[in-house]
Amino acid sequence: MVAETGLYDVLGVQPDATDAQIKKAYRKLALQHHPDKQSAAADGAPADSSRFQQIQHAWETLSDPDKRAEYDEYGEQGAAGGRGPGGGMDADAFFNDVFADMFGGGMGGHPHSHGAAGGPRPRQRRKTQTPPSQVDLSVSLEELFCGAHKTLLVERTRTCASCSGSGAKPNREAKPCVKCSGQGQTYAMRQMGPYVQRVPVKCTACQGRGLKVRDQDLCKKCKGSRTSRDKKRVEFELERGMHPGETIVVKGEGDESPDSSAPGDLHIVVRPLPHPTFTLVPPAPNRPTRPADLETTLSLTLSESILGFSRLILVHLDGRGLRTRQPGPGERGWRVLKTGDEVVIPGEGMWRKGERGDLVVKIEVEMPSQEWAMGLAERGGVETLRGLLPPRRPDLAAQAVDEGKETDEVELEEKVDKAEEDDTSWYHGTGRPYDEDDDGDYHRQGPSCEQQ
Ligand SMILES: [Zn+2]
Ligand SMILES: [Zn+2]
Repeated sequence: MVAETGLYDVLGVQPDATDAQIKKAYRKLALQHHPDKQSAAADGAPADSSRFQQIQHAWETLSDPDKRAEYDEYGEQGAAGGRGPGGGMDADAFFNDVFADMFGGGMGGHPHSHGAAGGPRPRQRRKTQTPPSQVDLSVSLEELFCGAHKTLLVERTRTCASCSGSGAKPNREAKPCVKCSGQGQTYAMRQMGPYVQRVPVKCTACQGRGLKVRDQDLCKKCKGSRTSRDKKRVEFELERGMHPGETIVVKGEGDESPDSSAPGDLHIVVRPLPHPTFTLVPPAPNRPTRPADLETTLSLTLSESILGFSRLILVHLDGRGLRTRQPGPGERGWRVLKTGDEVVIPGEGMWRKGERGDLVVKIEVEMPSQEWAMGLAERGGVETLRGLLPPRRPDLAAQAVDEGKETDEVELEEKVDKAEEDDTSWYHGTGRPYDEDDDGDYHRQGPSCEQQ
């Protein structure tokens, strides 16, 4: 069941015609009624280009699946005014239009336009909700872990309260645009193979709105932009365990376009902040409903890594302490924990609707300090320790050195960052960065294979 059949009638097809049937009918009629062909055939009689334009227009609507669907549902008025989402434009194009609305005077019909007596009737846009606007919300992992009641000061675009979105002073109104006769679009002719195609282009005088406010009639507050910026304190709940990038929708608190019937929603995107102790590990993309894991690092002394321990190891995001006992030598479950090992504390990860992820703990073993080692020597414990520790390695196997090559004695010196050393030495004037007596070539001074 379709709303109208007019465009189908123009092409002489049934409303349930296939795309191929429509295309065939269009080609045949377009050739038949093409203005060039008509004037040639009719012995100088004026060409009837209106029939050709009707055919072109029917084809433009029915060959586009979106426009055709809209025409079927709403008829000609719906298809012509359908510039909102679902009106055959993609979302980006629609957003661009909304921005054009804000800064360029807007497009589409306005309720007051019915009062424009005598003039051509401007194009009507079907009333729709303004598309959502988006803001990022930085949240700490503590807030994400416990959930929080949040407030956010949001700056958004709303319909100008002074002119109710007409863009005109009180008792003045927008008049149908002269350039496009209120249609919001003009047509350009473009050669497409054997045909000349009428291509609709947005009217530059009214930015496609079909209406234009005279300069002397512009609203004082919005200067004809029909919108103003306002700030609103928005309150909402941050649910615990929301994933990074997840969205909180606050109904009707987003931007508002004067061409829509309702303000858009506000989309608040959750962006967790880095945390000094914990890292959030969202679930794999194919398991989006799983709770996130948390990751942390546990620093152990050499003694703890070998001999086990029992202590408070960290304070969780909700302030709770976590204590654990790692068995020692001879006990069940005893093992040496090395740097880079990962252990898991089940159920201590992030929340997600009553469920919890795991806490992954990365082990980092801290080697004893220089001071400790010196103290050991003073206490005469070196030989004892040597006896306890795993033995030293012998020389590399003799055949590791190439035959006929010698073995040199070398020293292990502390490593210095070369880049940093170079930079700071010339900066502080303690070194010569380049030869000043040559032609300006830049020579780094430093160790080199060849003597200079
Ligand atoms: Zn205004
Ligand atoms: Zn115009």
